[in-house]
Amino acid sequence: METKKSSSLFEEAKKYIPGGVNSPVRAFKAVGGSPLFIKKGSGSKIIDVDGNEYIEYIGSWGPHLFGHNPPFIVDALKQALESGTSFGAPTGLEVEMAKLITGLVPSVEMVRMVNSGTEATMSAIRVARGFTGREKFIKFEGCYHGHADYFLIKAGSGALTLGIPTSPGVTKGNAADTLLADYNDIESVKNLIAQNKGEIAAVIIEPVAGNMGVVKADNNFVKQLRTLCSEEGIVLIFDEVMTGFRVAKGGAQQLLDVKPDMTTFGKIIGGGLPVGAFGGKREIMEMVAPAGPVYQAGTLSGNPLAMAAGYAALSYIKAHPEVYDELEEKSSYLEKGLKGGLKTLNKNYALNRVGSMMTLFFVEEPVNNYKTAVKSNTVLYGKYFSKMLQNGIYLAPAQFEAAFVSTAHTKEDLDKTITANINAMEQL
Ligand SMILES: *Cc1c(COP(=O)(O)O)cnc(C)c1O
Repeated sequence: METKKSSSLFEEAKKYIPGGVNSPVRAFKAVGGSPLFIKKGSGSKIIDVDGNEYIEYIGSWGPHLFGHNPPFIVDALKQALESGTSFGAPTGLEVEMAKLITGLVPSVEMVRMVNSGTEATMSAIRVARGFTGREKFIKFEGCYHGHADYFLIKAGSGALTLGIPTSPGVTKGNAADTLLADYNDIESVKNLIAQNKGEIAAVIIEPVAGNMGVVKADNNFVKQLRTLCSEEGIVLIFDEVMTGFRVAKGGAQQLLDVKPDMTTFGKIIGGGLPVGAFGGKREIMEMVAPAGPVYQAGTLSGNPLAMAAGYAALSYIKAHPEVYDELEEKSSYLEKGLKGGLKTLNKNYALNRVGSMMTLFFVEEPVNNYKTAVKSNTVLYGKYFSKMLQNGIYLAPAQFEAAFVSTAHTKEDLDKTITANINAMEQL
């Protein structure tokens, strides 16, 4: 595999961009080696600047439910481009988009568009605080909610109730209002609520976690979480930036049959352009300016190109709900194939899958929270990643991520992936 052009671009990039990339995980640091620079994507495949072609399962980290450049999104973008790229004034498409989202996700009665998942979660927390008049919130260890200061908190040794900043630049003050609970452990939530009675504005959770690798929230756990939040007047926020329109037409909340008070979106909602959104109950969303006093704004929010791409993606989903059957069929075929390969090699690695999201953990025990996820052998994952890449399969360059199957993946793609998996595993 020739990667000369990628390597020289990376050397050049490092002179002008921190670490050579505009988002850290792209740099291949977790798996070793040097990142590939991509020239083109089409369907299930991408081609790098050296001309190598890969079947890929990143899908731009989630947005590409239909693979790269599906014609109906490209057409919508071309059409929108004719009329102008941005006005900073309302357009009819924003109304159509809001109607579409509230129609697809019944718990969302009103919605505000933003430009990324980070903006969505950051704004949702502010609104929940404004609505409740409280300052603290609970997040779960291993869940990712974008890079706002108060989300970059992990438990320090034994300090479960007092957040310790994970990143320099996050102040102690910011960390102090973030309380950490254990995923799938309702007792840890109950304890935090008891210790901070009447002070907690929100609980935010990835209802299917994708950012510690794929970990599903137990149905009963989420139902109990719903009850607790209702009893305590706490705003329950489902961060569906990854799972929204991915695991079902109505997101993870449809799968789990639980209605959150607020939901955040990103990724698929932008059809491949930079978009996020937050929404929820009318009484909460009417706190948002200019309807209410909680300030939230954006120069390019509701951008016409972004809305055109997102609207095309979501209206396709609405018109073709059978895409989720197709994704389930393809993903379960891939899961069976991968598991079959592992079995013949006598490896009992955990493979978690929810719909078209899956993660193969290099640990031989069930993974159901952060503590079990991090038992995975990341050195082995790095080697596996490189072998898969040499076999033409491009997976996420880090263990604690999801692989995404798209409707563009063909049976041939999946079979090649299953074969590559066996080859790669044999060589570890
Ligand atoms: C990707 C992601 C985010 C952050 O979205 P960005 O668009 O990268 O800012 C937030 N929450 C979850 C669950 C995500 O997967």
